[in-house]
Amino acid sequence: MKIVVCIKQVPSTTDAKIDPETKRIIREGTKAAMNPFDLYAVEEAIRIKERIGGEVTALSMGPESAKNSLIEALSMGADNAVLLCDRMFAGSDTWATSYTLAKAIEKIGGVDLIICGKQAVDGDTAQVGPGIAAKLDLMQATNVSKIEGISEDAITVSRLNETGLDVLRLRLPALITVIKDINEPRIPTLKNARKARKAEIIMWKPDDIGAEPDKTGLYASPTRVVRTEPPETRNSVTKKIEGGVSDQAKALLDELVSRGLI
Ligand SMILES: Cc1cc2nc3c(=O)[nH]c(=O)nc-3n(C[C@H](O)[C@H](O)[C@H](O)COP(=O)(O)OP(=O)(O)OC[C@H]3O[C@@H](n4cnc5c(N)ncnc54)[C@H](O)[C@@H]3O)c2cc1C
Repeated sequence: MKIVVCIKQVPSTTDAKIDPETKRIIREGTKAAMNPFDLYAVEEAIRIKERIGGEVTALSMGPESAKNSLIEALSMGADNAVLLCDRMFAGSDTWATSYTLAKAIEKIGGVDLIICGKQAVDGDTAQVGPGIAAKLDLMQATNVSKIEGISEDAITVSRLNETGLDVLRLRLPALITVIKDINEPRIPTLKNARKARKAEIIMWKPDDIGAEPDKTGLYASPTRVVRTEPPETRNSVTKKIEGGVSDQAKALLDELVSRGLI
């Protein structure tokens, strides 16, 4: 079973700075970590490998510093790590990002299953997984909470929806996106963490994956982040209401009236 798991490096800080020119997050030099949902994607890929054998490749598109998230995936048990790193890829929106990742997956070749996280905590669009599946014309299931069964040619999953659970059977190759309910990511052993630090990270540029210049990066992205601004901080005042139930109810009523809320 040849599995590719897509991992994104995201700012691990709430005060990420925005570039006033490009309106994009300044990623260089910002404290960053693997996107939380992708930890569950990596864990699930390794569990499938342990269950039915195979090989796991962790794939990321990002700045050089994204190597750290790939090293983390290797220390959890991924076999290979590929970083798509080039100025040409910078500023990609979800359309361009899924195109570029799809090209890299084609280059890896013979992939049976692609696993993505449900969404990235910075862009928050949850569009890249389905975008890759569409570009590679694959069956897909999003928000997967459990893998019910997997064989060489099919995977059965259950996914959460608004009213309950769907159980879906997908012909392989296919793509799934996972939620946090699916597993508990392992803590890498020191031995594996050390080994991962010495492992080679394959670096690919647009030419290596045959990416067309007008299909990747900021200028190929149909979506323009027009304005990004931090949300207004509300200076809310907390007031503790003391006394018996009826006193508290009366005090609350007075407070709401005094604030003109009723
Ligand atoms: C504040 C903000 C708002 C944005 N708004 C938009 C927008 O509205 N529309 C738009 O098109 N773009 C937007 N972008 C750009 C968008 O973040 C990037 O295109 C990004 O590469 C992918 O989108 P996402 O972060 O929403 O990822 P999601 O689609 O939420 O990610 C889902 C999964 O896809 C995989 N994945 C995502 N990115 C990568 C990667 N670089 N490498 C490997 N795997 C990956 C991971 O498994 C991840 O869990 C925004 C960026 C920011 C910072």
